[in-house]
Amino acid sequence: MKLYIVGIGPGGEAGMTIAARAALEKSDIIVGYTVYAELVRRIFPNKEFITTPMRGERKRIMLAFNAAAGGKTVSLVCSGDAGVYGMASPALSLAQKYPGAEVEIIPGVTAALSGAALLGAPLTNDFAVISLSDLLTPRNVIEQRLRGAARGGFAIALYNPASSKRKTHLARACEILLEYRDKTTVCGIVKNIGRDGETARILTLEQLSSADADMFTTVFIGSGETKIINGRMVTPRGYKNV
Ligand code: SAH
Repeated sequence: MKLYIVGIGPGGEAGMTIAARAALEKSDIIVGYTVYAELVRRIFPNKEFITTPMRGERKRIMLAFNAAAGGKTVSLVCSGDAGVYGMASPALSLAQKYPGAEVEIIPGVTAALSGAALLGAPLTNDFAVISLSDLLTPRNVIEQRLRGAARGGFAIALYNPASSKRKTHLARACEILLEYRDKTTVCGIVKNIGRDGETARILTLEQLSSADADMFTTVFIGSGETKIINGRMVTPRGYKNV
């Protein structure tokens, strides 16, 4: 029994690695959150799919292991990379209950990287990645990490800047960052990377506070050195400013 945990990249087929495609090709069954399974179904219309809604992560992983236990080759698909706020970690924990299961993790292009490329090169020097979702991390810890990254001078990529229920996470994050960074700090906001409705916009930290974000948005906060060059968001590689 074999279970691939596959990061499919940001959206369409073009952003998928050859290894991810090969794992899906080899699989009898593909398991995933409805939205991502639909993206994959366009490429492999004849595969068997098992889909579950957003929050059903544990259930999705169990379904995948059970299918693999039946002797099938199974892929559990995740957007971006499966190890970045994804299912690789919970799947490896649950794998202990399925000692015969061989689990292989296939990396994918995470939203920080695909989004950065759309904006320019905002993450060229040291950067931090922070999720604003308080479903799995307490809010005070998120705020502490924002302060730590701001103090450390990191460029920052923010995942989960808003959910359907809470729209205020991003404004609160900007309020904290504005304590440490100038209001003119170069920022970027990207939506639906690699999918229909893809957009990328460069704006100031002050403007970002009132920007509209949803669950398919990734946000970039420049370091003190980040500039706009020919309309692209660019963080220099080093102190010599090149
Ligand atoms: N494993 C995923 C991240 C899952 S957390 C990855 O590596 O990319 C969900 C968050 O990821 C979203 O709220 C958003 O911030 C970001 N994200 C994932 N796919 C995206 C896309 N296609 N466009 C923009 N942001 C995306």
